[in-house]
Formats: sequence, C-alpha cells, structure tokens
Amino acid sequence: MNENSSQRARQPLKLFNSLTRKLETFHPVHAGEARVYTCGPTVYNYQHIGNMRAYIFADLLGRTLSWSGYKLTHIINITDVGHLTSDADVGDDKMEKAAAASGKTAWDIARYYTDAYWDDINRLNIRQPAKWSIATDHVEEMIEFAKGIADKHCYECESGLYFDTTTVPDYGRLAGNKSDDVEGRIEEVEGKRHAQDFAIWRKTPPGENRQMEWDSPWGKGAPGWHLECSQMSMKYLGNEFDIHTGGIDHREIHHPNEIAQNQAHNCSEHSGANIWMHNNFLIDRAGKMSKSSGDFLRLQVLVDKGIHPLAYRLMCLQAHYRSELEFTWDNLLAALTRFKRIVMGVENLRLKFDAADATEAKAREHPKISELREKLDAAMADDLNSAKAVPLLEELLGLKKVNASQRMALLQEMDGIFGLDLEQVTRADLRLRPADATIKASDIEAMINLRQQAKVDKDFAKADAIRDELTEQGVDLMDGDALRWEWRISI
Ligand code: AMP
Ligand code: ZN
Repeated sequence: MNENSSQRARQPLKLFNSLTRKLETFHPVHAGEARVYTCGPTVYNYQHIGNMRAYIFADLLGRTLSWSGYKLTHIINITDVGHLTSDADVGDDKMEKAAAASGKTAWDIARYYTDAYWDDINRLNIRQPAKWSIATDHVEEMIEFAKGIADKHCYECESGLYFDTTTVPDYGRLAGNKSDDVEGRIEEVEGKRHAQDFAIWRKTPPGENRQMEWDSPWGKGAPGWHLECSQMSMKYLGNEFDIHTGGIDHREIHHPNEIAQNQAHNCSEHSGANIWMHNNFLIDRAGKMSKSSGDFLRLQVLVDKGIHPLAYRLMCLQAHYRSELEFTWDNLLAALTRFKRIVMGVENLRLKFDAADATEAKAREHPKISELREKLDAAMADDLNSAKAVPLLEELLGLKKVNASQRMALLQEMDGIFGLDLEQVTRADLRLRPADATIKASDIEAMINLRQQAKVDKDFAKADAIRDELTEQGVDLMDGDALRWEWRISI
C-alpha cells in the first residue's frame, strides 16, 4: 500500500456478521487496528482446494483491512491434536488415526502436512499471518484456561471434562435455527448432561496408548479442538477482538462452542469476537468437497494438469465468499484464460510504464483513475465483493490512453487486495508443463520452427499438419503470441 492510498478516505467497511445475520460496519476494538483469527487446518492429511478457499477468503479480508489503513494482526492456527473424526465428541483423534494407518508418528504426520499446507499457502500468494499458532505448543495454557472455567461451567465424566452449555446465555445463537439439525448430528456420550455439551478435555481411555497426551487435573489426555481456538485466539488478540473467520461448517458446532468457552472465560455475554465471518463451500457435482469422500482435489493436482495455482485464486475471487462456488474444470480453465489475458495486459502496461518520463507521475490524477478507485472501494466495502471488483482490474488495463504511471499505481493498489501477484507473474510462468506430458519442450520448439518455415514456403498444408500433430499431443499453438505455445489440458 502506498502512502497516498492510506490517507484517502474510504467508505465504511461493511461485513456480514454470522452472529447477527446482518451487514455491520467495521468498528475496531482498538483504534486503527484490526485483529483477526482464522481457524486453520487439521494437519492429518493434505488440504483440498475447498479448504484453501477458506484461506483465500481470510487473506482477502486481511488485505482489504490493510488497504483500508488498519494495522492488521492476523493469527491462523494449526490443529495438530484434538480434532476428532466427528465435529462433535465421538470418534478417534484424526492425528492418532492417521498415524496408526501410516505407521508414522503423529508428530511426523503433523510436520509433513503442515509443510504441505504452507507450500499451498505460498503458491496461492496468501500473505503470512503475524503468527502460525500451533495447538501442541499451547497445551499447558489450555489446561490453565480449562481450570479457570471448570468449577462454574464444566463437569467430569468418564471420557473427559465436559462443558455444560446451559451455563452460558443464548448457547448456539450463531448456529441460528439450525440447532435441531445439529442436535441430530451429535452422538450420545455416556454421562453427558445435554446433547450439545462438549468435551474440553478428553481423557486417554484406560489401556490405550496415545502418542499425543499430557497430564492434567482430569487425568492424562488431550485438549478438545474447541478449547484450542478459544485459548489461542484470546491469548494473541485479547479477550475481545475484532473478527473470527472459518468455513461455514464451523457455524454449527465449532464456533458456537468457542463462543460458549469465551463467555465462560470472560465472565461476560460477549462472544469474544465482535464479528464472525464464514466462507461458503466449494462444491462439485457430488456436493461439498471433503476429505472423507476419498479422492479429493488438492492444489498439486491442478498444477500437475498444467494449471497455475493463481488461476484457482482468481476463480475464487470471481465469486462472492458467501456464495457457494461450483468447481468444474471448465470454470477453472476459463479462469486460467482470464488470468492469462490479465497478465498479458499487465506486461503491456509495464512496457509503457518503463518508457514513461518522470513528468507523467506528477500529473494530476486522471478522473478515470479516481473513478475506478472509488468503484473498487465501494465493491470491497460491500462485504468484500471481489466478484464486482475484479472486472475493474480489466477496465484499468483497458484504459490505453491514460497515463501509464497512474495506471500502474492503481494496479498495484488493486493487486494489494486481490493478491494475484501481478508484479511478479509473467506469461512464461503460466506455461506449466502437465505432469504426464510425454513430448519434450525442445521437440515442441523444433516443430514450431518447422511450421514457421512451412509458412514462409507457403506450404500451408504442412503448417496445418504440424499444428494438428501438436494438438494431438496436448500442445496448443498461440499464433501471434510471443510465447507461441501453451499446453492444453486433457481432462
Ligand atoms: P479442516 O482442515 O477440515 O479443519 O478445514 C479447514 C477449513 O476449510 C475450515 O475453515 C473449513 O470450514 C473449511 N472447509 C472445509 N470444506 C470446505 C469446502 N468444501 N469449501 C470451503 N471451505 C471448506
Ligand atoms: Zn477453530
């Protein structure tokens, strides 16, 4: 963000608060600051591209807050213990189960999938948070948190320490009218007083050996998943912070339970965060994309098909974060084509910008530039409407007659929000080689040269035949483009 932009007046930022089901104007707890917590991955497996939509959304929020002039503190946690195979209180710990299935230690599994997740974060140009908060680094503090609320709000039974949800006001408000639904999904646990009560500490069952367990006043065991996020969010952001984000599934169980613990901890009706925001699902024809459904799409699968990760980011930005987004290969390829056009537009602009003289930069701002910035502000202030904002980027690139310095400055501002890495990505970066391609790049170049010669010789039949042969091997030729060829993806 450049200095000028931070000084410009912005429209009041309106965000949809799942707690009130209303658009609300953002008023920070601490003037000039924005403190945001995002529920991170459970690292027992790769993240699928649906999960990554949740982090692209959180990044869009963070970038918009920064652009609006707030000093952002963003925390994302890594859940490396405590998340059971069901969001309620039954099933195995996902980490222990993955360890048993693979013969590796739960700690090795956590490290491996955390690294894989961070790789995807980087490839999607998601900004680093102020801290990646790792659950297993905080267990002692979680025990202290639990001790603080145990007397008034919890009871012990054979399997653990449970939170009594009737001890806090308005339990489950966040889930709205879905509580019957949710109740149906919660399975019975011996000794639980109410269906919606949940474990904040799970004891290791007698005779069982767990790789991840800690001593506690309630016996050896592990923290509950909900306890982790309450403790870590308030530790780093304060007992009352600005925004808590996650996928829409968290609206039903995980976040209502966090809120109950926060209320108990703070001895207050306040839910801990002022605004709770949830991204909608990425779905495919079979419904919500999920890891339990066996084969799932992760970012590497797209890359193996020759699709640049940022084309997926653009695909996400083309939809509002609260809308369901359907994944199809056609949608993704359309986003890739759009991304290529944008990158070509940026390269052309850069050529003009490099050739511009210094007086250009000092000229008064062109009214078209001011108008586009205002439209960008209006779209993003309207609950982060990136679907409306992205076409402004193309409008800007199309303003051929407007001073290149001013266009470049606004482009940088826009990309500060969209995160498409437009200052770095080149057309050559977009030419990804599919993993199962058999033809060599040098053979493609040689055939292109032969075709060029055939055209010079006016042997158009031969030129066409070469083109057809390449097409059959998955290579499309782009006549008139400096890169000349690109891979077609056979899907
Ligand atoms: P998990 O690793 O399962 O804890 O999920 C990580 C994040 O992805 C959470 O915020 C989930 O709510 C979110 N999520 C899960 N499935 C989807 C999906 N299909 N589309 C968008 N977000 C999802
Ligand atoms: Zn969480």
